[in-house]
Amino acid sequence: MDQDQKILVVGSANTDMVIGVDKFPLPGQTLLGNNFLLNAGGKGANQAVAAARLGGHVAIIARLGNDLFGNQTIENFKKEGLNVDGVVLDNKLPSGVAQIVVDKSGENTIVVAGGANLALNTKQINKNADLINASEVVLLQLEIPLGSVLYVAKKATSLGKKVILNPAPARKLSNELYANIYAITPNETETRYLTGIKITGEESAQHAADFFHNKGVRVVIITLGAAGAFLSTPDFSGTLATTEVEAVDSTAAGDTFNGALASALSKGMGWVDAVSFANKAAALSVTKHGAQASIPFLKDIQG
Ligand code: AMP
Repeated sequence: MDQDQKILVVGSANTDMVIGVDKFPLPGQTLLGNNFLLNAGGKGANQAVAAARLGGHVAIIARLGNDLFGNQTIENFKKEGLNVDGVVLDNKLPSGVAQIVVDKSGENTIVVAGGANLALNTKQINKNADLINASEVVLLQLEIPLGSVLYVAKKATSLGKKVILNPAPARKLSNELYANIYAITPNETETRYLTGIKITGEESAQHAADFFHNKGVRVVIITLGAAGAFLSTPDFSGTLATTEVEAVDSTAAGDTFNGALASALSKGMGWVDAVSFANKAAALSVTKHGAQASIPFLKDIQG
C-alpha cells in the first residue's frame, strides 16, 4: 500500500479495439479492415493514469474480467504506479471492451460492452474503505453503476474528502448525488444535457454553474475545448485559457484534464492554479494521437 496515496479513482477500465476502414460496413457486410490497435481505455483508468503520470499518488477501485484483457489491464496499472489493492478480477464477467471502427475521414463508430465494470458494487467499495480513508481527493465518472457512484460519494463526503465528479458519459443525476460532491467537471455537451443551458459565453456558463451550485456543488468547472475552462467557486468566477496548440486528436483530453486536476489538488494547489495546470496538461494531450498514449508526464509540462 502506498503510504502517500492521496487520490482515489473509482471507475471503469476498458480495452479499446480499434480497426481502421476505408468505409463503414453496411449491416450484414463483412469488410477487410486496415490497421488494428489494442489500447487501454475506460474513463476511470485513463483519469487514474493521468493523475499518476502528472505526479499524483493514486489508487484505483475497478472491476475487470479474469481474462486476457483484465490481466493485461492490471499489469498496465502496476506499470503506471497505481495502487491496485482495490481492483477485482471477476470470475463470471468479461472485461469491459470498446469496439471502435474509424474511417478514412477520422469519423468513428463505437460499441462498448461494460462487462465487469457494471458489477463494481457497494460490497467491493466497502471492502476497500481504507482506500477512501487514506485519500484526500476522490475522482468519479459515470461508466460504473450510478448506485456505486452515489455510495462512494456519500462515504467520501462524510469523511471530509474532496469528491470530484466528471459527469461523463452524461446521465441524469439525483439531487442526493449533487449534494455529495464537492466539484463537478462537465464539458459543454454534458453541461447542456444536465442543465439545459447551451454555453455561448461567460454569462451562460455562470448560469449553468449556478444550476450546480444551487444543488450544493461548491466548485464548478466547465471545460470548453480549445477555449480552456470556466471555473466558478465561492471566491472566483471566470474563464481560464488553455495553451494554444496544433490539435491532432482530442481523445482523452477530458480524462487528462480531470487526472491533472486531481493531482494538482492533492498537492495543495488552489482551484485557479489547479485548473490552469489541468488546462496545460490537457492541451498537450490533444497534440498526440490515442487515449493513454497521449497523456503527458509531469516532466513534459515542466519542460
Ligand atoms: P473538452 O472536453 O473538449 O472540453 O476538453 C477538455 C480540456 O482539454 C479543455 O478544457 C482544454 O484544457 C483541453 N483542450 C481540448 N481541446 C483543446 C484544443 N483544441 N486546444 C487546446 N486545449 C484543448
